[in-house]
Amino acid sequence: MQAFQPVPPQRRVWCNRTLNLRAIRAVGYDMDYTLVHYRTEAWERAAFESALQPLALRGWPLQELTFDPEGVIQGLAFDLELGNLVKATRFGYVIQAQHGTRPLSFEAQRETYSGTIVDLGEPRWEFMNTLFSLSEASLFAQLVDRLDAGALPEKIAYRDLHRILRAALDEAHSLGELKSQIASDPERFVELDPELPLTLLDQKRAGKRLLLVTNSDWSYTCSMMAYTVDRYLPSGMRWRDLFDLVIVEARKPGFFSGRHAVYRLVDEQRGLLEPHRGALEPGGAYAGGDALLVESSLGLSGAQILYVGDHLFGDVHVSKDMLRWRTGLILREIETEIRALEEARGAEAELTALMVQKTELDNRIAQLRLARQRAQQGYGPTPPTAGPDALEAAIKGAADESLALDARIAPLARAFASLGNPGWGPLMRAGSDKSLFARQVERYADIYTSRVSNFLAATPFAYLRAARGSLPHDPS
Ligand code: IMP
Ligand code: MG
Repeated sequence: MQAFQPVPPQRRVWCNRTLNLRAIRAVGYDMDYTLVHYRTEAWERAAFESALQPLALRGWPLQELTFDPEGVIQGLAFDLELGNLVKATRFGYVIQAQHGTRPLSFEAQRETYSGTIVDLGEPRWEFMNTLFSLSEASLFAQLVDRLDAGALPEKIAYRDLHRILRAALDEAHSLGELKSQIASDPERFVELDPELPLTLLDQKRAGKRLLLVTNSDWSYTCSMMAYTVDRYLPSGMRWRDLFDLVIVEARKPGFFSGRHAVYRLVDEQRGLLEPHRGALEPGGAYAGGDALLVESSLGLSGAQILYVGDHLFGDVHVSKDMLRWRTGLILREIETEIRALEEARGAEAELTALMVQKTELDNRIAQLRLARQRAQQGYGPTPPTAGPDALEAAIKGAADESLALDARIAPLARAFASLGNPGWGPLMRAGSDKSLFARQVERYADIYTSRVSNFLAATPFAYLRAARGSLPHDPS
């Protein structure tokens, strides 16, 4: 029998709510950034540059605007009122902010946001739900700088600036030029994963129905899926043979929340569509439609369907909220972060030990201060350190110790704060707390993992058990 290889941490499937894969009868997959992983820098640069064209038509001076892949991360929020990008904790407290491309100092950030909670239900905030938001954020930050400098011919609010650049990006995504650039040179834009097709085949042969539900159109979907999957399948098999149902132009998130017209692809070669009525047929390819139609056509309820996607809102938030589907989030960037965390284990142990010392010291200083207060005001028990001079000296000694400890803690804490991205730090953490992004992941994604092929080692029969939630009063 084949020996089990231990799965490296960055390739594990992480679980928020227990999920028995044996109880899952259908697995739906999103395509872009889920089954097909793009080289983010190349894809987002191409989208960024495509969006510049409609903006140039408005007479905006755009020379020297370039996509900065390091400058932003997924999971930040746009503050459309102030032209800022912010990183918030799970409670919505802003812990880091930048105006345009300029980081706000700690004082400026505190002054701006001390009375503010990032509530994504308010129109002030727009959340970066997917890697497709990177080009948008990079463009927004640089255009805010230009707007502030009076370099744009229009004097507009930051919210309008955002609306205009979103429209430019929508146009880039939906007009053919960008997509044909990608489809004609997939090597440049797509990162292949040789383990992906076997993963899907295992699930299919285990009796699960596989669905592809993408917002992309038919022709782009065919190009990307054929490039990504066909080469690794047994001979004679194509990507189309893996899926019991293919739905393109799904218009998620609306797909999960309403009833929509559906069209059947009657000629897959030429992409010809016809309106369709009634149940979706096994093996068919469709455009549009909705999740309720998928449930009724398959005869399955939400708890029997797992949907796996990369878009925190469009793929997992809405499918969980509206239909109680089981949900999986694909987060490629956590691979780098988890690897960095593994490498920093020694430093983390050192930081934890120093923080224990710091807590003890803080406690000692507080006790000494109380003893001084009681001694000065002549009440309470006699302090163990006799005499005001001795107390002052003890407080001074402890304060010096605390400063020395801070000097050792600061560089370690800074190193952790920049894990994953030098400016914004890790995706799932905000300071010592969980990030707002992490909060949404735990709320809406039953499981999360860096790529679909991580299900290969997990197998279609895995019982994915939720980690025991931690609480501040847990014994350490
Ligand atoms: P999915 O992830 O497979 O559902 O497909 C995502 C599709 O949405 C791709 O075709 C993207 O080009 C498109 N897309 C991503 N971001 C935007 C956007 O900001 N505006 C319009 N289309 C987008
Ligand atoms: Mg996607």
